[in-house]
Amino acid sequence: MVHSTDSKGNFGQMMDCPMLISTIISSAARHHPQCQIVSKSGEGDIHRYSTQDLQLRAKKLAQSLQKLNLQQGSRVATLAWNGYRHLEIYYGVSGSGLVCHTINPRLFSDQIAYIIQHAQDEVVFFDMSFLSLIETLAPLCPSVKYWVCLIHPSHQPQSSLTLLNYEEFIAAENGQYEWPLLDERSASSLCYTSGTTGNPKGALYSHRSTVMHSYATALPDSLCLSAMDIIMPVVPMFHVNAWGLPYSALVVGAQLVFPGSKLDGQSLYELIESEKVTLSAGVPTVWAGVLQHMKTHDLRFTNFKRVLIGGSACPPAMMQTFAQYGVEVIHAWGMTELSPIGTVARLRATDVYKTAVEQEKILQKQGRVIFGVDMKIVDDQHQELPHDGVAFGDLYVRGPWVIDQYYKALDHALVGGWFPTGDVANIDAEGNMQITDRSKDVIKSGGEWISSIDIENIASGHPEVMMAACIAIAHPKWDERPLLVIEKKPNHQLSDQELKAQLLKYFEGKIAKWWTPDDVVFVEKIPLTATGKMQKLKLREQFKDYQLPTI
Ligand code: ADP
Repeated sequence: MVHSTDSKGNFGQMMDCPMLISTIISSAARHHPQCQIVSKSGEGDIHRYSTQDLQLRAKKLAQSLQKLNLQQGSRVATLAWNGYRHLEIYYGVSGSGLVCHTINPRLFSDQIAYIIQHAQDEVVFFDMSFLSLIETLAPLCPSVKYWVCLIHPSHQPQSSLTLLNYEEFIAAENGQYEWPLLDERSASSLCYTSGTTGNPKGALYSHRSTVMHSYATALPDSLCLSAMDIIMPVVPMFHVNAWGLPYSALVVGAQLVFPGSKLDGQSLYELIESEKVTLSAGVPTVWAGVLQHMKTHDLRFTNFKRVLIGGSACPPAMMQTFAQYGVEVIHAWGMTELSPIGTVARLRATDVYKTAVEQEKILQKQGRVIFGVDMKIVDDQHQELPHDGVAFGDLYVRGPWVIDQYYKALDHALVGGWFPTGDVANIDAEGNMQITDRSKDVIKSGGEWISSIDIENIASGHPEVMMAACIAIAHPKWDERPLLVIEKKPNHQLSDQELKAQLLKYFEGKIAKWWTPDDVVFVEKIPLTATGKMQKLKLREQFKDYQLPTI
């Protein structure tokens, strides 16, 4: 601990304790020592231990990594599901001054190889299920000196590669290790965007940004996390640090439940019930599977109370279904470049007097900023637009957990000190932000914009619709017109023609008439991105020559 003073004596006289990721784990181990961390393995067995066990093993890992003579700030990567060993790597790597680089295994192998080489990862920890991927990657990734398998040694299969075993790697250490006192601005972890266009880009988080994001996202009007919670992050630890939950849960002393690789509706439902989970988090597509399973088997939740949904817009129908099961949906918006959470939809005291419908409308938006983040909407000339709930423009943000530059990029990512998010939004007079589109998904018809998200939200409310994507189709007169692409629920009753007719009627009175899609098409499966979002780019390619009916 350092006592700061300046030559003029203007500093406050408070301890200068840097905000370090190691303080999260040491505080949790000291003040929430019995707090449980539960992990489900790919084989289905359950592993349980405490925050004290977690810290001991994270320290052992830090000791073994020290022996590899890596420089401070070297990148140590993971290709792993949500589980206790992955958590140990989060803390052991960042805590010891290295950078924990979480890689999304759902990307194409050449994209992963690009990311590993771009980051110059020196060590890669991986789950057994990725062994064949590792065998493909190894010849393409000369920067990697050690491939370490996250499995008990007795289960590690033969491989043509020289692999280390995680348990053996840490076994020789005693855990007598002091977390180093780092500068809080030091890099702590690295996550690449999915790169739907062009190569993925890295967001390099710092200890300070991570700890501040943890405090802020735990606040009552954020996720309202507490030591009463049992939190199951379904959002992967390879996707923006599982939205910060592996840190914020330990900050408040909540228990953690990790689902491993099984993310189907049945597995998640059963784990929520058996581990008495109170709060979970994930993208809408994951929850569609859970709700479908519950409906088919007429199931209910016992302890599950809140679900954080983000990553793409949560359809209002999903919120209503969760409400019928007694679960509150917390709709949040964010992105990799924002650590990720920027806004959360919450009511305020003055909203209490509004009607239920008005309240629902507020909660369906992407929400208010959490303290620390600032946002504005701008026009094409970067001029700020009013917060009147009508004007919409490019959404810009700034704050201590927003990037100012992509990893190894030469130029700044900012425009006049603000980060342009690539989203189009409006903000109402009470500060509630609503995303109308990602700028590349916008549909421009006759010079006016149509919100694809609004159309998808309405279509998803039809009981036979599993997923709805609205995309732009070139049009000779209007430039672009909306086409609605539908994936039906597995147990659907209606024919394509019947459902199409119902859907087109369904929009009446809900949106301006000219927003109504010109046509509805049906696909077996809507393609998803590596982070479980609808891959509209692929759909636009698939339907690029589609002839809309002349109306
Ligand atoms: P990727 O999916 O490309 O890896 P991110 O997870 O960082 O990257 O995605 C961020 C984007 O996801 C945002 O810019 C926004 O377009 C979209 N998004 C995130 N949350 C929401 C939400 N609640 N509603 C609508 N869009 C959202």
